[in-house]
Amino acid sequence: MLKLNVALIAHDRMKDQMVNFCYAYERILKKHELYTTGTTGSRIEAGTKLKVSKLASGPLGGDQQIGAMIVTEDIDLVIFLRDPLTPQPHETDIQALIRLCDVHYVPIATNLASAEIFVNALDKGELDWRILRRRHQS
Ligand code: PGA
Repeated sequence: MLKLNVALIAHDRMKDQMVNFCYAYERILKKHELYTTGTTGSRIEAGTKLKVSKLASGPLGGDQQIGAMIVTEDIDLVIFLRDPLTPQPHETDIQALIRLCDVHYVPIATNLASAEIFVNALDKGELDWRILRRRHQS
């Protein structure tokens, strides 16, 4: 099984859900490289045994940092538990991140139901085609 780069981001009201998700799928997620926005990463590390690489907090530019990694094909899957009911100060950054996923064919899950499907696909090697795109880029 190939090691992929997975981005994990959760808005404040979704952070408990993200920690529970990471705890439930720790066996799968620990086999991959995990990149997170700042606070999401701290919460995941406090609530699970997973090791993550933390970027800046989302409102301070963390979503844009992940966006830049998408541009260079350094992110293979995004799990972004968005809060659909609360306006975010960095809404434009969020839209930009989702747009870049579409530009670069990066699968993105924005809620728990799709996140579970993607993480199971990850486990079955169904996203290994992403490696070919990375090789193509370099
Ligand atoms: P955070 O950022 O993990 O630093 O809270 C997430 C976001 O709001 O985009």
